[in-house]
Amino acid sequence: MSDDRIRVERIRPEIFECSVLRCPEQATAFRTVDAMDPLSETFAVCPEHLAQLDRGEPFKYDINDRVVLMGADLDAADMRPVTALLGVSQDSGDPTMITVKFGYDEAGSNEPITLRITEDVARALTVLLPKFLTDMDGQPLG
Ligand SMILES: [Zn+2]
Repeated sequence: MSDDRIRVERIRPEIFECSVLRCPEQATAFRTVDAMDPLSETFAVCPEHLAQLDRGEPFKYDINDRVVLMGADLDAADMRPVTALLGVSQDSGDPTMITVKFGYDEAGSNEPITLRITEDVARALTVLLPKFLTDMDGQPLG
């Protein structure tokens, strides 16, 4: 007859799956990103994806689905990295709208993205973006 007063619990280390979309591997490391001001999010990654992140490969942490998008999944989610600011103008006829044109790094293979943003959005960007930027010495601007 077993003694209910004595319980032996096996402590199993918690196992995390890699957060990269559709990756079935077991995670061995964590990464933290600035998800949405002022929140930061931590996700788990397998060794292979950690190596890709360490090489600087582009990714996006999807805060809603709590997955990491990389490679073709970034393209499919319209989250290709924009690497060129092609121009800023006020050419829409509406003086409260600012036109901003961006380009991708695969020059010529993708049409530029053109956004028309309100002055309020432009002002909000000037407040929010410095948090993610550094000066020439690597010191945070925001
Ligand atoms: Zn992985």
